[in-house]
Amino acid sequence: MINNDKILVLAPHTDDGELGCGGSIAKFIESGKDVYYVAFSLCRKSLGEGLAPDTLEKEVKAATLVLGISQKNLHLYDYDVRNFYANRQEILEDMVRLKKEINPTLVLTPCSTDLHQDHQVIHNESLRAFKDVSIIGYELPWNNLSIKTNFFIKLEERHVMRKVEALKEYKSQSHRPYCNENFLRSLATARGVQTGAAFAEAYEVLKFIS
Ligand SMILES: [Zn+2]
Repeated sequence: MINNDKILVLAPHTDDGELGCGGSIAKFIESGKDVYYVAFSLCRKSLGEGLAPDTLEKEVKAATLVLGISQKNLHLYDYDVRNFYANRQEILEDMVRLKKEINPTLVLTPCSTDLHQDHQVIHNESLRAFKDVSIIGYELPWNNLSIKTNFFIKLEERHVMRKVEALKEYKSQSHRPYCNENFLRSLATARGVQTGAAFAEAYEVLKFIS
């Protein structure tokens, strides 16, 4: 069994963590685990016209609060969206500092088949920074041509609903098809069918340390 007492969620952009593992986060918190959430970009350059530059900063604070994450466990960086490759070394150094500071026992990161350039950087650097920690990769199907689903976290209805409620805090992103409640419930249902549970979230095991 993976030791998951201290969990670190790595989100390239605000909302990736909620989308990929929001139900699992709700379940972890419910069972008293210590969950840390790190977002590496506030995506100021991809916000819709007329929105304040700190829109996503406010939204990620509200969304993680809905999931039950302590605000002292929320770390926000402000790298330029779509430009993570240029900041690869700084991002790695941030992760090394986070490892020292938090000392997590389980890290959640984008899966290995994620096509988004920023997500690829977070995936790659997390494998470097957390060499001696268990790591699982979360799915974001609109960015995955394929995903190896060999690890599942079973969820109850209330965990899925908590994820849906958290994502409703991202009002600036509500037009995205993947923020739609039907989609979120359908994916959790499909992953549940794979595991014999009502709902689940699927992951790719990247490193398993027992
Ligand atoms: Zn993203």
